[in-house]
Amino acid sequence: MDVEKKVEKTKEEMPVVEKITVGHVHLSGCTGCLVSFADNYEGLFKILDDYADLVYALTLADVRHIPEMDVALVEGSVCLQDKSSVEEIKEAREKAKVVVALGGCAAYGNITRFCRGGQWNQPQMESYVPIAELIDVDLYIPGCAPTPQQIRNVCIMAYLLLKGNDEQKELAGAYLKPLMDLAQRGDEACGCDLMYDVINQGLCMGCGSCAAACPVRAISMEYGKPNIDRDLCIKCGACYAQCPRSFFNFDVMNEFEGISELIKGVME
Ligand code: SF4
Ligand code: SF4
Repeated sequence: MDVEKKVEKTKEEMPVVEKITVGHVHLSGCTGCLVSFADNYEGLFKILDDYADLVYALTLADVRHIPEMDVALVEGSVCLQDKSSVEEIKEAREKAKVVVALGGCAAYGNITRFCRGGQWNQPQMESYVPIAELIDVDLYIPGCAPTPQQIRNVCIMAYLLLKGNDEQKELAGAYLKPLMDLAQRGDEACGCDLMYDVINQGLCMGCGSCAAACPVRAISMEYGKPNIDRDLCIKCGACYAQCPRSFFNFDVMNEFEGISELIKGVME
């Protein structure tokens, strides 16, 4: 079945009958990822009305203990000297069907990679690691912060993956695959990834997407190629994730139109 037909069929079968459950697990993060989720405005209400119940989010709801849930959106890295954080991430893994590293800190450590401890009133807190150092992570949403659209799309696609029919599952799987691949790739990120895995491999085509994605302007285009200022880099991983030569997958990109139409239809 071609993409257009799949999308039409999928739209006809909306709206959906059963929601998924989603939780926001806040570790050593800044809440910027949650703010980005909220920046979907009406889109967030649409998701909460029709597709997902937010069952855990200490910033927004008075549920004190992590419940069973379909999707855990984990924000922030884990401080190894903070016993409750270490227990919390392990509990999130036990209770959630899908664990998402939401944002650069959960996925790669990001700015917390630079922590060295020694500050009052917890000078012993010196080791911060991405969540994949402690648990298996299903997919990454990179970015500091990730865009509202990325978070919205992952929620919708997780819904379709868990509750949809076979065609919906197929489209959702295609959308989520690169983010799952990213989780498999590892939990270290740096602007240097562009040097080692793109430029040095002869893959860079000078499109400038990496420079546009960098939240701290650590990348400038010089003579058509990215130049990385490693002293500015906060190790968020956004540049490699945005680079079209990093894990460009034709199977996924060929479904792009159908996936965009599907998301548009779901959000109407
Ligand atoms: S160069 Fe910029 S986008 Fe790339 S990892 Fe560093 S801070 Fe993030
Ligand atoms: S996004 Fe990738 S292909 Fe484009 S300029 Fe940066 S490294 Fe090169």
